[in-house]
Amino acid sequence: PSFKSLGLIDPLLEAIENLKYKTPTEIQAEALPHALAGRDIIGVASTGSGKTAAFALPVLQRLWEEPKSLFACVMAPTRELAYQISQQFEALGSAIGVRSVVLVGGINETEQAIALAKRPHIVVATPGRLHWHLENTKGFSLRGLKFLILDEADRLLDLDFGPVIDKILKIIPKDRTTYLYSATMTTKVAKLQRASLSNPVRVEV
Ligand code: AMP
Repeated sequence: PSFKSLGLIDPLLEAIENLKYKTPTEIQAEALPHALAGRDIIGVASTGSGKTAAFALPVLQRLWEEPKSLFACVMAPTRELAYQISQQFEALGSAIGVRSVVLVGGINETEQAIALAKRPHIVVATPGRLHWHLENTKGFSLRGLKFLILDEADRLLDLDFGPVIDKILKIIPKDRTTYLYSATMTTKVAKLQRASLSNPVRVEV
């Protein structure tokens, strides 16, 4: 399929063209129709598959329809991955003016709180620092969150982020869309899947 035939809106097609993506990767071709139809997704795919755009594009499409701050939150296992994800959201969302913030350890909390006060559309975070801001940063909540993405879920759990993710799941809206991506499906990932997704479609490459 082409990106256009998948039903993506023009501002996203324009960004895709600027990024020189010619055709959807396998995971994008499989996940996008379900995601654009509003389903929760479990994606079994690793880095290099194009999974980031597979979850970013449907979020951006919905954001364009219903512009709103603190619209989506992505949890990722490492700082490096969090920055890469944030960059992809901004590149793919350039034509709709999307703003994202990265919340990771090792960076001054006050600077992050100032960035949050500007009410970005997308928050990309490692779980520990996200939870810290939810507890400590005045005026910051994910009360209106529409999308949650758990990226590299197997690594998140290997790094023992499970308990803090459970705490975050308790304080964010249940009425949301959730995507979980993982390179491997382990027992721990299956448990997180049951705790976080509702009636998901599984896509695998
Ligand atoms: P990811 O697996 O999300 O880390 O993506 C791996 C790399 O592929 C990134 O540098 C993306 O910018 C790039 N990419 C994603 N989708 C496509 C596509 N459809 N065509 C060409 N490159 C892509």
